[in-house]
Amino acid sequence: MPQAQIIDGKAVAAALREQLKGEVDDLIAHGVTPGLATVLVGEDPASQVYVRMKEKACDKLGIASHGIRPADDIEEPELIAQIEALNADPAIHGILVQLPLPKHLNTQRVLRHVSPEKDVDGFHPLNLGRLLSAKSWDELPRFIPCTPAGAIRLIDSTGVEIEGKEAVVVGRSLIVGKPVALLLLARHATVTLCHSRTSDLAEITRRADILVAAVGVPRLVTAEMVKPGAVVIDVGVNRLDDGLVGDVDFDAVCEVASHITPVPGGVGPMTITMLLANTVRSAQAQLAR
Ligand code: NDP
Repeated sequence: MPQAQIIDGKAVAAALREQLKGEVDDLIAHGVTPGLATVLVGEDPASQVYVRMKEKACDKLGIASHGIRPADDIEEPELIAQIEALNADPAIHGILVQLPLPKHLNTQRVLRHVSPEKDVDGFHPLNLGRLLSAKSWDELPRFIPCTPAGAIRLIDSTGVEIEGKEAVVVGRSLIVGKPVALLLLARHATVTLCHSRTSDLAEITRRADILVAAVGVPRLVTAEMVKPGAVVIDVGVNRLDDGLVGDVDFDAVCEVASHITPVPGGVGPMTITMLLANTVRSAQAQLAR
């Protein structure tokens, strides 16, 4: 039986970070140290781990991270005031508001106050609107959401052409599924977006030359759902007793796909790397002004 090539997200991410390190050194030589503000409200342990990983990744590249740690009972106007202060601070090039926010805060309202110029997560409605409007890759906004951007980089790393292909995305969240679909459209794939109400999911996924799973259901995508030779990108991260698994039944799908991302070690390492890339781009834009 054929064995899919494993797409090594760690290696792709490492190569990109190496390139970014050179760009950071260059910015510093021109008197600009890229700065990322990491806003973490409260003490959710998982969020603390994610933010620490992002800050460590910044340190390694020479990006200055500025930790903002409001208490979990902060009122929305006060949080917004803190974000506005970061918007005005020239040492800050990117603002990351770690999600989820505590329930009493309105996430969309808070994110709308991050300056679109510093929106390194790409979640500001203006940047999402620009993503929606883009007819091709060169019309994309400066900031596109990090996980979707990382997924496209991994497809590109296979050398498989996206244009003209049938792409199927399973999952329609604002954070992953929808932006992935829009990015694939901007690369001229023919895109189908599936979700929990899709009838006969397998029939649709079997058409896919490029299949992206962003669902959050362990091993939902089985070998029978995959077209032979497809590129399979597994965004899912599901914690089971036997460790982390994706949304794809990895071992079985390896027998069918041409390329596949593992979990962990696939999309995950790309997400933080794209955040670093967005922060560097923001600092470069400031230098160019
Ligand atoms: P959401 O829960 O926001 O969205 C899940 C999507 O999957 C929804 O659109 C839902 O449909 C759809 N869905 C649920 N069940 C089914 C099903 N049985 N068949 C088809 N579609 C289904 O999740 P996210 O998009 O935020 O995340 C998806 C996965 O990606 C999670 O495992 C998450 O942990 C992981 N993730 C990984 C990241 C990384 O860096 N590697 C970053 C972000 C997320 P409907 O809209 O109808 O409810």
